[in-house]
Amino acid sequence: MSSVITSVSLCCPGCGKEYEAQAYRHVDAVAEPELRDKVISGELFLRTCPFCGSRQLVTDPVIYRDNHLLACLSDRKLEVEGLDGMAGRLVSDVGSLIEKVKIFTAGLDDVPMEFCKFVTRQELGKDVDLKFLRLDGADNDIILAYPEGGQMQMLSVGFNVYEDCCGIVGRNPEITRGLGGMVRIDRSWVEQFLR
Ligand SMILES: [Zn+2]
Repeated sequence: MSSVITSVSLCCPGCGKEYEAQAYRHVDAVAEPELRDKVISGELFLRTCPFCGSRQLVTDPVIYRDNHLLACLSDRKLEVEGLDGMAGRLVSDVGSLIEKVKIFTAGLDDVPMEFCKFVTRQELGKDVDLKFLRLDGADNDIILAYPEGGQMQMLSVGFNVYEDCCGIVGRNPEITRGLGGMVRIDRSWVEQFLR
């Protein structure tokens, strides 16, 4: 697979005019590693209206392929053959796709990460949508972010919390049993094990 770009028709949220823009259908970050950076920065999904300069997100279905991750942004269930040990992930929005790429690019796994986010949400005592941002510092602190009051709040979680969650996942085969093929690993997925 190599990267595939198509033309899409967008309606500007600023001025309401329609314009044609390029959108990725397949992103092959193995063949074109610079695309990985553009996904992480969000640039790959941003388009600018030629009439008024408003920016908007392209949310069309896209398949992202990297060394250890094959992620599909789609509202449909998708079956992919030959994952060969890669994690196959379905995501429902651009933000979740970006987060998956950040997690796997950092050498982490989204399964224990969802447990880590669950534990952190419990400790925070807030019903918020946490997203992994990056590893930070010599101790690899895990930086998570969530929206609150129109701003992004950031918090730091010790790497030992992530390691503990890896331990939980490793000791409980029922967690990893359903992970073949393309799966949706998100908040509702992790909560089925923690009710
Ligand atoms: Zn416009």
